[in-house]
Amino acid sequence: MTLTPLHRALLLSAALLTSVAGAYTVKPGDTLFSLARTAGTTVAELVRLNGLSTTTLEVGQTLRLPGEPAASASPAPASPLPPTPALPGVNVTAPTTLRMGEAFTLRLTGPRAAQARVHFPSEVGEDVRLPAERLTPVPTGNGTFLVLGRVLLGKATPLIYEIELDGQVLRRSLPVAGLPQPVQRLNLPPSISGKLQDPARAAEDAAVERAYALRTPPVWTKPFQDAVQVRAQSSAFGQPRTYVAGGPVQYHYGTDYRAPAGTTVSAVNDGTVVMACMYPVRGGLVILDHGAGVTSLYFHQRRVTVKVGQKVSRGDKIGEVGSTGLSTGPHLHLEMRVRGEGTDPAGWINRLWPR
Ligand SMILES: [Zn+2]
Repeated sequence: MTLTPLHRALLLSAALLTSVAGAYTVKPGDTLFSLARTAGTTVAELVRLNGLSTTTLEVGQTLRLPGEPAASASPAPASPLPPTPALPGVNVTAPTTLRMGEAFTLRLTGPRAAQARVHFPSEVGEDVRLPAERLTPVPTGNGTFLVLGRVLLGKATPLIYEIELDGQVLRRSLPVAGLPQPVQRLNLPPSISGKLQDPARAAEDAAVERAYALRTPPVWTKPFQDAVQVRAQSSAFGQPRTYVAGGPVQYHYGTDYRAPAGTTVSAVNDGTVVMACMYPVRGGLVILDHGAGVTSLYFHQRRVTVKVGQKVSRGDKIGEVGSTGLSTGPHLHLEMRVRGEGTDPAGWINRLWPR
């Protein structure tokens, strides 16, 4: 088995959290609250143990964790709002823990599942596209209805979902674990980083936002598949990065697959082409709308071979790997967005829906 950087990071995280009296290096998105929960302790205990005078953490800061480790790497459940009673006629199945940048599904069954409406109040007040949108569950046959959730990168506080039916509300909270990858400092040469200042960038970003706002019915019926037939990942999803020395930390919202220029890029699933053009940052870009607020994005292609409005099927060629836009060598940058927020492509490939 080949370990990707993400796998290694997760294994490292598990090792850290089960080590006794370990020192922990603060990662982007960490809070005292999330670390205390993950380590099975309290904020007050972490403050005491480390002699902290403030609850604000700096990335890279070293913290002592308490001597008695949690039983496993899974964070303990935490509930900032009290849970409400079950809703008559609706059964909900949800993951028990979540990871930053993960896409997930709430499964609703029962005679009244179709009438339920869902939103995620923990998204309120964040820098998030269309926060707390009221969502209609998608029927998937056999009386099961799904709602897609997304865990924002950089946010390790619990995710809260609410399901409403006839004025009654079911509220639950799910703990979120961080991605413990160290910040990667790219120090791009000005010839490449200058593309971030390209005046055409605003128009590029605005066009992409319009694609994120689409809410068409889901059109796929088969599991998602790889976009390129290579397994060499050059940069993992969720990697925190700085592009220039001293620049702000930004997350990598996709996965990079290293492949020779000209390698065929194919659609990860059925969809409609909503963008297909050359742009200053994303380079040769294709965006497919799969419906249900799910879009797949393919960056840096040397050529795109589809047109806006075209319907494509899973596996159809949409372009060729290149190194256009903000790129230092031939690779495909693949993103899987849920209502505009980046989610880990690994959670989609070979699945009909994320877990
Ligand atoms: Zn990338």
